[in-house]
Amino acid sequence: MDEKNTKRLLETYPRLFSNFRGFECGDGWYDLLCELAEKLEPLCVDDIPEDTARVGQVKEKFGGLRFYLDWFPADEEIYKKVNSAIDTAEEKSFTICEVCGEPGTARGGGWISTLCETHHVEREREKEEMRKKWAERRKERNDEEEARKEREQEEALAKIYSENG
Ligand SMILES: [Zn+2]
Repeated sequence: MDEKNTKRLLETYPRLFSNFRGFECGDGWYDLLCELAEKLEPLCVDDIPEDTARVGQVKEKFGGLRFYLDWFPADEEIYKKVNSAIDTAEEKSFTICEVCGEPGTARGGGWISTLCETHHVEREREKEEMRKKWAERRKERNDEEEARKEREQEEALAKIYSENG
């Protein structure tokens, strides 16, 4: 998440994000995080020590939002409300492109991301370019390896000739 959105979230919901380090997800989920924070901020009623964080970590994992708390509200009702709001937001994240916030679906095999069509195509193109780059690098390495072997053979032959010469 970029600096501007991070700052806005931290400033708008200061109790919830007290001592929070930063969001490890894309800007497409900014509105979703605002929606969740809007529900949680008023529930942050009990005092916690100044150096304690209510939210521990917010990140993307397997295409979905993960919102981890370091805060366990003493009141059971509040605790339930907090957890249910987080569950709802995490579930919803699988329908929102993490890059731009447009409707999206979870995509990919080994590395799953929730993306809209545009950002899915863009990311696939980036992957393809990366694959090409690595293939070229591999080829360069192989060429170097072959050149080295040829040189060694020539040197070995030259040695044999000079020894028998
Ligand atoms: Zn998108």
